[in-house]
Amino acid sequence: KLYNEVQDLKGNIRVYCRIRPFLPGQSEKQTTIQYIGENGELVVLNPSKPGKETHRLFKFNKLFGPATTQEAVFRDTQPLIRSVLDGYNVCIFAYGQTGSGKTYTMTGPNVTSVVDWGVNYRALNDLFIISQKRHGSVAYEIGVQMVEIYNEQDVLELMNIGLMNRAVGATALNERSSRSHSILTVHVRGTDLETNAVLRGCLHLVDLAGSERVDRSEATGDRLREAQHINKSLSALGDVIFALAQKSLHVPYRNSKLTQVLQSSLGGQAKTLMFVQLNPDVESYSETISTLKFAERVS
Ligand code: ADP
Ligand code: MG
Repeated sequence: KLYNEVQDLKGNIRVYCRIRPFLPGQSEKQTTIQYIGENGELVVLNPSKPGKETHRLFKFNKLFGPATTQEAVFRDTQPLIRSVLDGYNVCIFAYGQTGSGKTYTMTGPNVTSVVDWGVNYRALNDLFIISQKRHGSVAYEIGVQMVEIYNEQDVLELMNIGLMNRAVGATALNERSSRSHSILTVHVRGTDLETNAVLRGCLHLVDLAGSERVDRSEATGDRLREAQHINKSLSALGDVIFALAQKSLHVPYRNSKLTQVLQSSLGGQAKTLMFVQLNPDVESYSETISTLKFAERVS
């Protein structure tokens, strides 16, 4: 009951969609985004396919169009992040094909510019500020850790950094591959100075490997193996969230390294947020549909 600022948490799983803008030089391209509704409705158009199924409707808890700022995205994420200081476990994922804006949302394009900061920096900053504000009544210890999962078998621990050492964190966050899952974990331990009660919360911020399918006839060797591992872990993640959404008794955490690592923060009282990232152009249509199908299944 310490400082519970989270009054508006609906279910434990929510799905936000973010559509990135066309990049400079891409402005002549045709878009598949037909309609962005105020209540999270998205209509996607397939211009190359006349007849049926030219339009498909999807619905999200929140939908961020191409002009949405990093600050606005964070505003809708902040209550979930702050709940970690009250002892909740939270997982935030960015899912989508390579180039759809996952790293932009989670980390940002340019860490030296505060307006560009993604969810990661804003979250660390916010947790730090709020924990300082409460320091008269709760003593918080905050630890930050980064882990990268590549090809399932190795969990590579990049660093154990203190919250103050942000420059180190900034560099590591930017130098990541689109073929691995990168997990920034924030551990919080709070001691109530009056009662000595201790609470623990944990925030996982996950920039997932690109979800694009690889053409089996073209990919060979390392690239094929990478693709198979990524497919396996993303579908295992989908299966876990689907099982949680269905309130299923059996949740298949053991099927991938990713879901094993996150097990204690997926399910139970834990909160999950999935950012579904979309590339607006026509060439991305089939990846967009497969991303949206993933989102539909977990929401
Ligand atoms: P991913 O991590 O999914 O591969 P990136 O985050 O690297 O994709 O984004 C691809 C490109 O699009 C980058 O140049 C990035 O700066 C740009 N971009 C992504 N999202 C946005 C956005 N919301 N506004 C402006 N540029 C964006
Ligand atoms: Mg990326």
